[in-house]
Amino acid sequence: MLEFEEALARVLGAVPSPTSQVVPLSKAAGRVLAEQVRSPIDLPVFDNSAMDGYGLRAVDVASAKPDSPVLLRLAGKIAAGEVFAGEVPAGNCVRLFTGSPLPPGTDAVVMQEATHVESSAPGQVLIHAPVAPGENVRSHGEDVKRGSTVGSAGELLTAGRLGLLAAVGLTDVRVGRQPVVGLLATGSELQEPGLPLASGRIYESNRLALATLIKRAGALPRTFPLVADELAATSLALADACEQCDAVVTTGGVSVGELDFIKRAFQQIGGELAFWKVAVRPGRPFAFGCCRGKLLFGLPGNPVSALVTFLLLVRPALRRWQGAANVSLPAQPGVLVEPLVNDGGRRHFMRVKVDPVGNICSAGIQASHVLSSVALANGLVDVPANTTLIAGTAVRVLRWD
Ligand code: AMP
Ligand code: MG
Repeated sequence: MLEFEEALARVLGAVPSPTSQVVPLSKAAGRVLAEQVRSPIDLPVFDNSAMDGYGLRAVDVASAKPDSPVLLRLAGKIAAGEVFAGEVPAGNCVRLFTGSPLPPGTDAVVMQEATHVESSAPGQVLIHAPVAPGENVRSHGEDVKRGSTVGSAGELLTAGRLGLLAAVGLTDVRVGRQPVVGLLATGSELQEPGLPLASGRIYESNRLALATLIKRAGALPRTFPLVADELAATSLALADACEQCDAVVTTGGVSVGELDFIKRAFQQIGGELAFWKVAVRPGRPFAFGCCRGKLLFGLPGNPVSALVTFLLLVRPALRRWQGAANVSLPAQPGVLVEPLVNDGGRRHFMRVKVDPVGNICSAGIQASHVLSSVALANGLVDVPANTTLIAGTAVRVLRWD
């Protein structure tokens, strides 16, 4: 039986090197950047006004006060998107709006609220306050310099990152290719939802939960039909899924019962098992192997075990496959508001609910068939073997919601 870290290292070691493709920015959300991106332009592209007001020379209004304003001649108006022809002479100002290019000759913007225009003299502006040179001006290149890095290889493309790439004028990016992940649920008791349950049957739920997590890991799930607990059917289904996908995730049939066929079927189609069994709870029976360059993840059937082993051992592989620099679940520090008791001999990744300020409660009954506590949980806490973490203990929650 492997320790979790050893199992994870072996899984990550077996992931093929990422390959990449170019996609439009509009399709790149959630993908992983495959190369460093440099800005082709400066941002802001030109000096521009940070507010609605008047562009002027700061030196012209140095003496302006609320009760003794300085009078300037209005030389024109520039809307955002327009440009001023020529240079603004001393003693003049120009009406500007947020984003209007600062006209040549001016070096500051006085905000509209500190100005006054008499309706009888629309060509003159009274300035009631001084401004420093550069005030209310968004300077050319202060945000991004041309040639500077605006994205790094291995980085996840978030809304903010995509906004920046669009602002510097890029239209597409090179990203890691997404592995196609086949999903097989094995178990003769399993039934597709939508019909009343036959006796002895249960509704199948792992494929939907795992497809959701696969998508959220940036990969492409492909769901296959249910597989009965028979060697021939299991081998056929596995061979088909391996053929069509980059990796196959199965649930159920991976333990020691005589009706557990995943490992045998995998070997029958020419696969090589790298390891089986990991010293974690839930989810000890976890099989991992390779078949002609395709990876097989044999997850236990219990829904909680399937979900937790996916998060701990499959999700990192899917992220690495796309070239992600960071493959672990985001960790949030927090404090237990009630004890977490692990009286077993294996470390237990316990389901918890953590609130925004870091108070952590158990999500409920921790048995590996209990789905209501999975539905309630938003994270896992790694509790060492034979350990009680008392209320008040500071821990890290692995967030997966
Ligand atoms: P197994 O790993 O095949 O021994 O299954 C362990 C437990 O998980 C059994 O109670 C199964 O009925 C249940 N189970 C297996 N696969 C699924 C599934 N896809 N959806 C819901 N329950 C499942
Ligand atoms: Mg089974």
